Amino acid sequence: MQHYEKPLPLIDHDTRYFWKQCKQNKLMVQQCKDCKRHIFYPRNICPHCMSDEIEWVESSGKGKIYSYTVAHRAGGPGFQDNVPYIIALIELDEGVRMMSTIVNCDRSKLVCDMPVEVVFDPVTEDVTLPKFQPVV
Ligand SMILES: [Zn+2]
Repeated sequence: MQHYEKPLPLIDHDTRYFWKQCKQNKLMVQQCKDCKRHIFYPRNICPHCMSDEIEWVESSGKGKIYSYTVAHRAGGPGFQDNVPYIIALIELDEGVRMMSTIVNCDRSKLVCDMPVEVVFDPVTEDVTLPKFQPVV
C-alpha cells in the first residue's frame, strides 16, 4: 500500500462501525426500527421520526447516479494526479444518498440514473473507501 496523500475520513463514535465494515467489503447503512426508513450518514437519532431505535443493515451496494460533476481542478494537493475525476452523489437502492466517486468508467458515458455498484478501495491500513462503478 503506497503513501496516501488525500484527506481521510474522521472516524468517530457514530461512524466507526461503518468504516470497520468497509474494511470487510460490506457497505452498511442504518435503518430505523420504528419507521423502517434507511438512514445515511450515520447518526444516533432517526431524522424522519426522531426515534433512537436505529440498527445497522447491509446495503445491496447497488444504486444509481443521482448527480455528478467532473473536477478538472484538484480539490487539494493530494488530488493533483487524479484530474479530471468524478464526484458523484449515489442514490442507493435503499433510498439514501452517498457522496463518492465513480471508477472504471468512460467519462463520456456518464449520465444521471446510470446503474452503479459499490467497489471497495483499501487506501490505508485503517480506511477502505466505498467507490462506485457502472453495472455492466
Ligand atoms: Zn424513524
